[in-house]
Amino acid sequence: CGADLANLVNEAALLAAREDREKINMRHFEQAKDKVLMGAERKSMIISQEEKKLTAYHEAGHTLVAKLIPGTDPIHKVTIIPRGMALGLTQQLPLDEKHTYPKAYLNNNIAILLGGRVAEELVFNDVTTGAGNDIERATELARKMVCVWGMSDRLGPLTYGKKEEQIFLGREIAQHRDFSEATAVEIDDEVKKIVSENHDRVRQLLAANLETLTRLAETLLERESLGTDEIEALVRGESIESQ
Ligand code: ZN
Repeated sequence: CGADLANLVNEAALLAAREDREKINMRHFEQAKDKVLMGAERKSMIISQEEKKLTAYHEAGHTLVAKLIPGTDPIHKVTIIPRGMALGLTQQLPLDEKHTYPKAYLNNNIAILLGGRVAEELVFNDVTTGAGNDIERATELARKMVCVWGMSDRLGPLTYGKKEEQIFLGREIAQHRDFSEATAVEIDDEVKKIVSENHDRVRQLLAANLETLTRLAETLLERESLGTDEIEALVRGESIESQ
């Protein structure tokens, strides 16, 4: 909205002023956008080399899954510079403004969310709490596919669970269960099925492209941030010259 844009331009102007510039350039806008969208960089945060490496493979996992599955939103940037609460981030920018989401697109998003965890599994043979938020979002998406958007063949095009909204609070306050215990079990099964099928798909995808995953992660470890063109080149199998 207008206010968000004003805020963005203002941040960019501050960055330009800090560098004694008379004009704002694209780099200032890019930095301002990252700050507004993802929070300020926390360069002073102390992170062990091990944790950095794990984050690099985790983020490379998200990025590579998004690159390998056709029809997903383009990756704009991947970074292991901590911002806000996150140790790293993979940022996708949709090509256009979407108002409806096809089932395949949602499944692909679940796959991308699981890409971080699967990279940890494959490379370190271990898992960390770092994927907690990804897993929460993937589960939430799968549950909505079943209960809100009627996308499960087994449960059909029905709504499960009615939300009671209190207008003056403007948010959900209660979730009414309007289905039987047997249906609840079926819903849980379906949600689990959607998430695990995507998990299997991502495991196969990343296991078959382990070399690319490593190239992406190691370059990310070295550079801390990668943009669209660099990611493209690395996925194509080219190595980019070190700085
Ligand atoms: Zn993640």
